[in-house]
Amino acid sequence: MKTNDTTKKIHILCVPFTSLTMPSLEISTLKAVLKEHDVDAEILTPFYDYACSLGGDVYCRISESIVGQAIFSALLFPHHQPALEKGIGEHMPPDEFRQHIQNSECFCREYADGLAGKLKESDIVLFHLYVSQLFPALYLAKLLYEKHGVQVWFSGHHCQGQCGESLQALFPFIRQVIGRDLEHRVLQLLGQSGLAQPHQMWEYPTPDYDDFGAAMNRLPAGFKKEHVGHFWLQVEFSRGCWWNQCSFCTLNCQWSSFAHKSVDGIIRDYKSLLSTYQTTQILVNEFNSDDQWENLIRRLNEEFPGMRGTYYLLFKVSAVKEERAMQLLAENHIPILVGVESFAKDYLRLINKGHRVIESIQLLKFAERHHVNCSYNIMFSLPFEREEDYDETKRVISYIKHLVPPFDLEVFRLTYGSPIYNNPDRYGIERMMLRKDYEGLLLPAEIHDHYTPFFYDFDSVNPGIREREARWRELIQGWIDLYYADARKGQSKLHCLLYKRQWDNVLDIYDAREGKGYHVHTLWGVERALYEYCDQVREYRDIIEQFSTVEESCLQTLLDAFVSQKLMFKEDANYLSLAV
Ligand code: SF4
Repeated sequence: MKTNDTTKKIHILCVPFTSLTMPSLEISTLKAVLKEHDVDAEILTPFYDYACSLGGDVYCRISESIVGQAIFSALLFPHHQPALEKGIGEHMPPDEFRQHIQNSECFCREYADGLAGKLKESDIVLFHLYVSQLFPALYLAKLLYEKHGVQVWFSGHHCQGQCGESLQALFPFIRQVIGRDLEHRVLQLLGQSGLAQPHQMWEYPTPDYDDFGAAMNRLPAGFKKEHVGHFWLQVEFSRGCWWNQCSFCTLNCQWSSFAHKSVDGIIRDYKSLLSTYQTTQILVNEFNSDDQWENLIRRLNEEFPGMRGTYYLLFKVSAVKEERAMQLLAENHIPILVGVESFAKDYLRLINKGHRVIESIQLLKFAERHHVNCSYNIMFSLPFEREEDYDETKRVISYIKHLVPPFDLEVFRLTYGSPIYNNPDRYGIERMMLRKDYEGLLLPAEIHDHYTPFFYDFDSVNPGIREREARWRELIQGWIDLYYADARKGQSKLHCLLYKRQWDNVLDIYDAREGKGYHVHTLWGVERALYEYCDQVREYRDIIEQFSTVEESCLQTLLDAFVSQKLMFKEDANYLSLAV
């Protein structure tokens, strides 16, 4: 199937400050889809050339701070340069900043000149954006439009709904913005109807990384070895999220619905990438595994035994309730990232994660028991945070110091289109505004009221959120220090800080969560049976039924004692034994 105008070509530009080691999955998939529809498309990678001109270390350093964006903001808005110099002063001295502006201008102009003969007026230049590419994309797009008269299209981050509309209004050289369903929308705009539905992902071909591969091969050997050698080609297991209800989340914003690739499609992608690029540097890309994961892992391990253990999966807590699932993950050496988010009940309810705190704890216990590499983070600074949420988290952590702590504390970021953004009153937001130290600095004041950003600062009706940050960090650090105490001393951990041994009628629980050596609790009879029964989350009424020959008051006394000794966790009428 041809485009309506077969002389039209799509040039997909990958601009600074994208990652040097992670070729874009989205645009590689887009290229493959376009190729399949006989659309003439190529991926251009000026970010590699720019990084070479700066030096890889400098590129990485300035891309991690606001400086990279500020350089291109100064090129877009020359009158704003003095304010930028002042604003980024803590990151870079003015002389160095000015030099970067000058060098970047030369680079971009030479790059644009170099495309003469390659770009025709009817051609489309598509900029697909990740978070840190907006200002370089705007500047380069403006140059290419002015110099070659090409059609400029923007897609990706910053392009959804009013964000995209405001970009187009402020920068009229942008002909199209594509907020979601990239491949489908591009084909539509080209007058094609090849993809019947945007979510029919199982149809999609293997991402085409050829242009990235060729660009990497053109890099100077030293630069390539040092900065690009450890690259990753991504394989998409699924896109979007089948849950899609967390109040803070906009991960789904680029896709209109959840879709997964078929197992056969994923196997085909792996085969194709392994053989085409002769590399095992392949990474899974997904937000949230669905229920095909068991079958998928079994098939992948059968097909590629040498790749066993390299499939990293993401789960909702409620998707890994059974210990059997954790056993399977362990047997297949699957590391997991889990959406725990919070240990405070009310906080979690407003995050709307769809699971209970006690279920997170059960998952972490099973992961510890089966030695599954389990990562998760804890969010804080959400607008509905209260002192009680911090206190509640602290209380819960005192029960679970033997389980793996979060790898990160994530500061909440308010994003356009999230449920919190759409219902600010419900979530305690008093006022939303441009991020003062980011877009507020990068954009000249006269533009502020006309730009709809993707990220926001906010004021909350709940006091003390910012002031609490240090205490959150201290709390989690204390947990990390205890959990990894042996590793920090260069010793391996012999036992979990709360574990069981059993013989005959005796169950001993060894508890070292206070960091003062092990204290042993010995259980037998009903006490032991009750503790073992609650190895998975049990409701009170099920406990009563299970132990119908024991007086209820006696059961209640035992449960209360377990909870007060922190050997069990209780949430509402649910109980969970904690020993691993
Ligand atoms: S945070 Fe995770 S589970 Fe929640 S909506 Fe986003 S992707 Fe889905």
